[in-house]
Amino acid sequence: MSVDPAQPDAQGVKEEAVSWKEDQERYENLQPKNKPRTPKPEHALTIAVSSRALFDLDVERQIFEEEGVEKYVSYQIEHEEEPLPKGAAFPFVEALEVVNERLRELCPDTDDLFDVVLMTNNHAQIGVRLINSINYYGLNIERFCMTGGKSPIRYLKAYQTNLYLSADGFKVEEALKEGIAAATIFKPMSNSQPKSTELRVAFDGDAVLFSDESEEIVKEHGLDVFFEHEKANVDNPLAQGPMKGLLEIMGRIQKKFHEQGERLECPIRTYLVTARSAASSGARTLKTLRSWGLEIDEALFLAGAPKGPLLERIRPHIFFDDQMFHIEGAKELGTIAAHVPFGIAQKSKKKKKKSASFSSKT
Ligand SMILES: [Mg+2]
Repeated sequence: MSVDPAQPDAQGVKEEAVSWKEDQERYENLQPKNKPRTPKPEHALTIAVSSRALFDLDVERQIFEEEGVEKYVSYQIEHEEEPLPKGAAFPFVEALEVVNERLRELCPDTDDLFDVVLMTNNHAQIGVRLINSINYYGLNIERFCMTGGKSPIRYLKAYQTNLYLSADGFKVEEALKEGIAAATIFKPMSNSQPKSTELRVAFDGDAVLFSDESEEIVKEHGLDVFFEHEKANVDNPLAQGPMKGLLEIMGRIQKKFHEQGERLECPIRTYLVTARSAASSGARTLKTLRSWGLEIDEALFLAGAPKGPLLERIRPHIFFDDQMFHIEGAKELGTIAAHVPFGIAQKSKKKKKKSASFSSKT
């Protein structure tokens, strides 16, 4: 036995460790009674959203750009008690919470829940207004990352982010380069509210769910060579694109509802909205999804027709596409659209920009 009370014996060290572990467990299991439990980060399906995606900060941004950071910060503090208007990602975040609620009812012990992290390069001073706004709308966002002017991208991996949504295209490109699924989200031009009881997610095919290998062939050799190529490769699955992981997550959650006999009441619905034509190039996409073991609820092949009118009928909470003209067409007809700056379409866009600036100089 140790004589010096400051030097506990082996038994004492062991007891201390046990009590420390008990304290840790008790702390980890502490949950407020009236608030839904936040999933543990290692199991959560993490969706990181920027403050400008979640809220409409247009007025504040104008102050920042025209009058500088000090005026911006003091404006935000002065308006701290005023909730911010909803932004483009708001209905999507709200719908994720609807899915979480249903999941908690169905599988009370599951940790496989969506967790929204507010990821912003705003200063901590703005935090009070963001927290007040989140509480005003009753959103369940517990994790915040405020980086005071520095890019938050380096934290995305640490938060084990499955999807990053931002209003800033440069940050989205940065995140994609880090291997994180990311998209620039846009407010629709008209306000058509998506259905509140079901999360609807619409994906483009090439360069979104799939790689851009087929799109490269269209761009370089034209449609006829593309059709021949797809026919010859119908049994070769396409490589995966940046949003495959998100479809996988949606499928995992859907399966939980299916297993409990709730296929028809499942609160998630997924759509493939592609410019491919079904007869000449559709089979390869469906076979690719099958080879991945993934299901899509509705597959819509448009054979080059505009996507906007169809999306207007679907009213998704988010529609992902790699081509800006599809995003513009969707936005015009009231769809919340998110641009995935991935693949050959971006290269040709950059090339066009380069030649435009070259010709303007000559
Ligand atoms: Mg595409």
